[in-house]
Amino acid sequence: MWSEVEQFIATHRRFVVTSHVNPDGDSIGSALGLCELLRGLGKEAMVIMGDPTPMVYRWLDPEQEIRSPACPEDHIHIHDADAIFVVDVNGWERLGTIGNAVRDAKAAKAVIDHHPYRELITPLSVVRTEASSTSELVFGLIDHIGVPLTLRAADALYTGVLTDTGSFRFSNSTSAVHAIAARLLEAGVQPARVYDLVYNQNSEARTRLMGRVLSDIHFAGNGQVAWLVVTQAMIKEAAALPEDTSGFVDITMTLAGVEIGIIFVEAPEQTVRVSLRSRGNKDVNRVAVALGGGGHKNASGVVLKESMDTAVEKVIATAVETL
Ligand code: 5GP
Ligand code: MN
Repeated sequence: MWSEVEQFIATHRRFVVTSHVNPDGDSIGSALGLCELLRGLGKEAMVIMGDPTPMVYRWLDPEQEIRSPACPEDHIHIHDADAIFVVDVNGWERLGTIGNAVRDAKAAKAVIDHHPYRELITPLSVVRTEASSTSELVFGLIDHIGVPLTLRAADALYTGVLTDTGSFRFSNSTSAVHAIAARLLEAGVQPARVYDLVYNQNSEARTRLMGRVLSDIHFAGNGQVAWLVVTQAMIKEAAALPEDTSGFVDITMTLAGVEIGIIFVEAPEQTVRVSLRSRGNKDVNRVAVALGGGGHKNASGVVLKESMDTAVEKVIATAVETL
């Protein structure tokens, strides 16, 4: 599984590691973990992301080495790299503002990911949809190569596994995931500390916004579909940030009888970011793909260039059809 990637690493010197727009715990965790591996092998490596690192993940990068949001100088780094690793991402458009620079770069490219693909962006792609997270895959690569796990890499990879498994409660929390978590704890990760840093950092503004949004929960399909709406006005009124809505959608899945949970977040310029979650065999990836997005069976997303009303109407109709 890793021999071609090992060869790819061995034959290049200067690496850029990048990932998707709106970085999450797994994209940041897997990118930092891979960067540590490359440095451990004596390579030059830097992480460049199109969008800034959310506050709750900044402790993983105390020296602020992650270059984000990418500036013109970073486009030069992308242009000059010998090799580019793209992690946790599914398609050029999901690379956001640096997508074109990565696509046009003469560097050799490799992908490590766990999202289902419609097409591969480069032939050297290790894509394992059965993996809980890209961090799980990067752990496997580090283990395969046999480079010692630094605490920095272990914290990053643990954060990726923790966030993509919903704190070890989604169905992707396999025995392999728990075995990896054990190895990461042996490398020095303190689980209570990581959990606190990632999940117990809510601001008053986010808490008020959550209350406002939850009090207006909507249902369709006999209570099997639940959805939340966040408008720009609500965010402004609560003095919150758009990133403060992350995780709200998971609350819809705590309701008895709900099979599909959705959140609609209004963004500027008549754009709505939609996140979908589901239980068991209900496939929200199909809903997202039908509307131009993607993701996994139980967690997917799409960005719609529509008014809020039209977005809700389209997504809910498609979701109800998949019940
Ligand atoms: P989230 O709802 O946490 O933003 O995303 C859940 C999953 O859906 C992630 O695995 C992510 O890769 C995927 N996803 C979210 N938004 C989009 C999108 O706009 N396009 C595609 N293709 N996938 C998305
Ligand atoms: Mn992931």
